[in-house]
Amino acid sequence: MTTRRQVLAALGVGLALPLPAMARLARGERTPGIAAERQSALPHRVVLPLVGTDGPRPEVRLSFRTPYQGGAIYLEVRHAVSGSARIFGRTSPLSPGPGGLEGFVGIGVLDPPGPASMEVIVTDAAGGSFRFVEPITVRATQWTSDDIWLPPPDPNTPPPEEPPLEPEQPRLDALYATVTPRQWTLPFIIPIELGGEVWVSGYFGEQRSFNGGPRVGHHGGTDIAAPPGTPARTTNHGTVVMSELTLVRGNLVVVDHGGGILSCYGHLSERTVAVGQTVRRGDVVGRVGSTGLSSGPHLHWELSVAGVLVDGLRWLDGTQGF
Ligand SMILES: [Zn+2]
Repeated sequence: MTTRRQVLAALGVGLALPLPAMARLARGERTPGIAAERQSALPHRVVLPLVGTDGPRPEVRLSFRTPYQGGAIYLEVRHAVSGSARIFGRTSPLSPGPGGLEGFVGIGVLDPPGPASMEVIVTDAAGGSFRFVEPITVRATQWTSDDIWLPPPDPNTPPPEEPPLEPEQPRLDALYATVTPRQWTLPFIIPIELGGEVWVSGYFGEQRSFNGGPRVGHHGGTDIAAPPGTPARTTNHGTVVMSELTLVRGNLVVVDHGGGILSCYGHLSERTVAVGQTVRRGDVVGRVGSTGLSSGPHLHWELSVAGVLVDGLRWLDGTQGF
């Protein structure tokens, strides 16, 4: 079986070749004043040392360079102690890991297909600053769609006795934007193993049409249909940061995996963890139900990278290089 590092090493071959035109830069010459337009005009990967140092130069490796909309890229930066990656105006943190820094960059459902540049800015142990410009190409995802027919509201239905719950989305958005110390380690796992009575009933990014109207929006998670009571497991190590009954997702649990990665488990019949609790990959966080806005027993599983919702299933099959 090929290890993650072997995959990254293979991908790194050919990417690290210095361009003749950039040999001067590769020797570590200081170029603090290089113009931004000059950098963007360069056709290939460039490394611009903002402040020169004598130690081993930071090296950036991307798990792959052709993510789909809703996909993610895993980054490794050797010989660096802090930094971040930036694309489409968003910043993704990088966390300390073996050999340097590690992290993910999410590609949003609305990010435009085509060539794009990822900027990686890091600092090495000697305090030197380095800026990398990494070309990627975003591929268009063919979104699935679902036509939903809702009956008209029954005028004879009495108003609910309980006051309605507040929509949870603003609080979720705030949680997804937080960055705490990294707890995740590779790999991430699916919350419920597929097979038998367990299947994917709704894909990430799915567009929905209501009562014959236009297809709108993008489903923010993966729906996994399963018998009621089936244990739902956390995709990675982390800390529970939300566990409550909500309006849309019903009983939900949010786990913060650190480094800007969070996951959410919705429509649970039962929550089995409390806020503040530490969980390990595979620990049960709740049981499948149909609470909230749900048409049948299933788990709604979300994965967020620095505030960008991404397709969790793509993290499991190796197609993103991690
Ligand atoms: Zn869902």
